[in-house]
Amino acid sequence: MSAELSEIGLYGLAIMGQNFALNMAEKGFKVSVCNRSPAKVDATVARAKAENIATLVGHKEPKDFIASLSKPRKVVLLVMAGKPVDDTIKLLSEFMEEGDIIVDGGNEWYPNSIRRSKELEPKKILFVGMGISGGEEGARNGPSLMPGGPKSAYDALHPILERSAAQVEGSACVTYCGEIGSGNYVKMVHNGIEYGDMQLIAEAYQIMKAIVGLSNDVMSARFAEWNKGELKSYLIEITADILKKKDDMKGEGYVIDKIKDCTGMKGTGMWTVKEAAEQAVPAPTIAAALDARFLSGRKEEREVAATILKGPTEVPSVSHEQILEDLQAALYAAKICSYAQGLCLIKAASDAEGWNVDLSECCRIWRGGCIIRSGQLDHMRAAFSKDAGLKNLMIDADFAAGLNQRHCQWRRIVTLCIASGIPCPAFCASLNYFDSYRTANLPANLTQAQRDFFGGHTFERIDMEGSHHCQWSESHKDIGDVKERTAGNIGS
Ligand code: NAP
Repeated sequence: MSAELSEIGLYGLAIMGQNFALNMAEKGFKVSVCNRSPAKVDATVARAKAENIATLVGHKEPKDFIASLSKPRKVVLLVMAGKPVDDTIKLLSEFMEEGDIIVDGGNEWYPNSIRRSKELEPKKILFVGMGISGGEEGARNGPSLMPGGPKSAYDALHPILERSAAQVEGSACVTYCGEIGSGNYVKMVHNGIEYGDMQLIAEAYQIMKAIVGLSNDVMSARFAEWNKGELKSYLIEITADILKKKDDMKGEGYVIDKIKDCTGMKGTGMWTVKEAAEQAVPAPTIAAALDARFLSGRKEEREVAATILKGPTEVPSVSHEQILEDLQAALYAAKICSYAQGLCLIKAASDAEGWNVDLSECCRIWRGGCIIRSGQLDHMRAAFSKDAGLKNLMIDADFAAGLNQRHCQWRRIVTLCIASGIPCPAFCASLNYFDSYRTANLPANLTQAQRDFFGGHTFERIDMEGSHHCQWSESHKDIGDVKERTAGNIGS
C-alpha cells in the first residue's frame, strides 16, 4: 500500500458523514472525503484541522477522490437515502474496478441494497448495506454498525469498522449481519424498536404529568433515578435531561412545555410495521408507536375533537408512590415485549432470506453507540447465546420471571389509564401481546368458523387431520367441494 493513499473514502459530508469521517480519521486511518457540494469538503477539512486530526484529506472531484484510495478501494456513502445513493454509485463506480467495495451507510430500504448489489455485479464491485445508529454523537465517537453484504468485503472493512464502532466492555459494536440486505434490515428493526421505546417513555411521561401531577423537575429526577436501575438506557437518560431543560430562548419555563405535540418521522418505523405484516410477525407495540405518531400529526382534528368527545369525569384514587412504582415495572415489561417483537421480525426475515442473522450478536452490538442502547441488552444477548433457537424473548427463563413478577403492576397502569381516559397505546399493545402470546386457546376457532361460513375457506380440527368444511346452514349448500379448497385459498 502506498503511503500517500487513503485506507478508506467517505462520500457525503452532512451530519453523519462528516462525523463518521472524523471518527475513522481520529482512530488513525487515513481517510479521503468528498461531497456533491464542495463547501462541505472545506468544512470537514477545517473541522479536522481544528480537532488536530491530520489523517483526513478532502477532494472535490470524484475522480481524484477515488484515485486517492488504496486498492481494493473502500468507499462509504452517507448521502440521503433513495435516488441520491443510486446517483452517487453511478458517479463513483465509473472510476472503480473489480474487487473495490462500496458501503452504503444510510437508512435504506433493504430491497434497494439487494438491487444495487446486483447492478454492481457485472463490474465485480462488492456492495455492502450498513446500518449506522447513534446519530451525530454516535457517528463521531463510535456508532453501532450493522453491515450486510459479501463476507469478503466485511473482512476487508473489519479492521476499520472495529476501531471506529462504539466499544462496550472491550468488544466493538459491529458484527457481520449476513448477506446483502441483512444489515439494512437489522437497522430498520432497530429503529422500529426505538419507536416503541420512545412511545412507552412518552406515555410514562404523560401518566406522571396528567395523572400524578408531577412537575418537570420531579419527573426529570424520577427518570434519572430509573436510569440507575433496570431501566438504564440512553433514551431514559436523555428524557431526564430533556425534562429539566429551561427555555433559554424565552428565558422562562421549560423547553418541553413549548414543543408542539406533533412527532415527525423519516420512514423506518413505517417500514418495520409494513415488514412485520409482510412476514406475518405480530409487532403491536411498534405499530402502536407508529399510529401514535400519525395521531399526533392530526393536531387540528384533535383540538376540535377535544371539545366534542368526553372522557371520564372521575378518576380512580391511587397513591402516587404506588403509581410510580407500578409505572417503572410496566415500562420494563412493555419494553421487553417491544424488543421481543423486533427480534422475532429479524428472525423471520433472516429465515426467509437465508441471512442467518445471529440475534445474540444484534443484542450485543446494540449495547453501545446506538439510540436503543440499554442495560437489558446484555441480558437479551445472554438469552440468545444460551438458546439460539429461542422462539420469543418473553419465554427465556429470566425474562419470563421478570414479566411474571411485574404483570400485575403493568395491568394496574393500563387499567388506571383507561379509567382515567389517558391514552397508553403502547403499554396496552404490549400487554395484549403478552396476554395473547401466553394464551393457549385463542378465540381464533370462531374467526376460522366465520371464514368457512361465508367463504368456504375450510378449517383444521383439533381431533382429526386435514382440512374440513362444514355445511353451516341450508342456504350455504352451494359452497362447493372441500377438496378444491386449500389453505392458500385465502379470501379473508
Ligand atoms: P442527509 O440530510 O440525509 O443527506 C444529506 C447529504 O446527502 C449531503 O451530503 C447531500 O449533499 C447529499 N445528497 C443529497 N442528494 C444528493 C444527490 N442527489 N447526489 C449526491 N449527494 C446528495 O444526511 P445525514 O443526516 O447525514 O444522513 C445520511 C444518511 O444516514 C441517511 O441515509 C440517513 O437516513 C442516515 N442516518 C442519519 C442519522 C441522523 O441522525 N441524521 C442517523 C442514522 C442514519 P449536498 O451537501 O451536496 O447537498
